[in-house]
Amino acid sequence: MRELLIVGAGITGSLTAALLARARPSLSLTVWDKARGAGGRMSTHRDPANPALHVDMGAQYISRFAPRPTDTAAFTTLKEELYSELLKCRVLQPLSGKIEGERSNLAGAEEAKFVAPKGMNSVAKHFLEQSRATVAYQHQLQTTHVRDGRVFCDTSAGASANFDAVILTIPVPQILALNGNFVDHLDSGTRASLEAVKYSSRYALGLTLSSVSASSCSSFDWTMKYVDHPIIRFMSWDSSKRGSSEFETKSDCLLVHTGVPFATEHLETDKPRVQELVMAALTEVLPEVPWGAAKHSHLIRWRYSQVLTPYKDTRGFAELSASDQPLVLAAGDGFAGSNFENCLFSAQNTADHILKHLEPRFILLLNLR
Ligand SMILES: Cc1cc2nc3c(=O)[nH]c(=O)nc-3n(C[C@H](O)[C@H](O)[C@H](O)COP(=O)(O)OP(=O)(O)OC[C@H]3O[C@@H](n4cnc5c(N)ncnc54)[C@H](O)[C@@H]3O)c2cc1C
Repeated sequence: MRELLIVGAGITGSLTAALLARARPSLSLTVWDKARGAGGRMSTHRDPANPALHVDMGAQYISRFAPRPTDTAAFTTLKEELYSELLKCRVLQPLSGKIEGERSNLAGAEEAKFVAPKGMNSVAKHFLEQSRATVAYQHQLQTTHVRDGRVFCDTSAGASANFDAVILTIPVPQILALNGNFVDHLDSGTRASLEAVKYSSRYALGLTLSSVSASSCSSFDWTMKYVDHPIIRFMSWDSSKRGSSEFETKSDCLLVHTGVPFATEHLETDKPRVQELVMAALTEVLPEVPWGAAKHSHLIRWRYSQVLTPYKDTRGFAELSASDQPLVLAAGDGFAGSNFENCLFSAQNTADHILKHLEPRFILLLNLR
């Protein structure tokens, strides 16, 4: 049995695991993630006092794009299968609310927008369940060390194991920060290409509003809004976005994304101070809401938010190991661009590459029988 480690339970890692499991059920798949749950930058925060209240902190909606001339038939088929599966299982549903102020440079290319009624992280969870991988959260990969034809990995939680192949779906700067001989032995061209991958930064603030402030918000005719403001760039009424009818008032969770310049300037500022600044900005942008009635808040610093400059290779992944070493691949939006479909592209090409790499050994094993 070949043992594979996938690092990262975001959308790329989860889908890669599901695709590998579909193609080769005999593979032994392990997924490690440093967070407490699945989703990565498609994460969903739940109010500890009322887990039924949740707010998407990263990706807000999924855009379905028209086929591009460069799409392969295999990618188009995968996209069709996945959208129909996710809609059938009610993991996704069409977005019905109004988006104000959207200035898309993708006009014409976007066919539909979808939201996840159970929270954006349910998409990654769906694929992880399909993969039947052994998943360990709060396991931050620390060391990647190649020895004796295998890859030794260990985590902050004290776990360690040897693998036949490793797929890293973590943001590229975090790959370069790993310990072990694997990163030290990267060839200079690959290292320079990895160092050239750049990300923007943003803060995300999720707020649970009391029924008082929620009812005072029900007069807004938008569900999501892009804003021209020095601090705030985007806002979304989360329950309204999901068409939730679970609550008396539909507008009870607000998500705020800051703009990139603000986050860049305040990347090292204490989070409580950042939250103060964002709350002050909110009172300017939405003065009609009594913000003192906010019941719960959660702030995330997305140091690596969206990819500004992807990896130069356009395959959606990079092979980091030398040809005589066990396979170590890097994948994810750093290699394809920051949206759902680019992560699908990365996951599909990564899974295909792993399967091709393992194939000679499968064939050898069959011949030996
Ligand atoms: C604010 C924001 C808004 C966005 N809006 C949209 C949108 O509306 N629509 C859209 O399609 N896309 C959007 N995106 C982009 C989209 O979220 C990402 O492109 C996508 O989630 C990337 O998925 P990934 O699996 O490649 O990486 P990630 O989601 O980052 O997954 C990587 C995983 O690796 C884990 N990890 C990191 N380091 C380690 C380590 N050392 N050991 C173990 N685990 C580790 C992380 O915890 C994470 O779970 C947005 C992103 C952000 C941040």
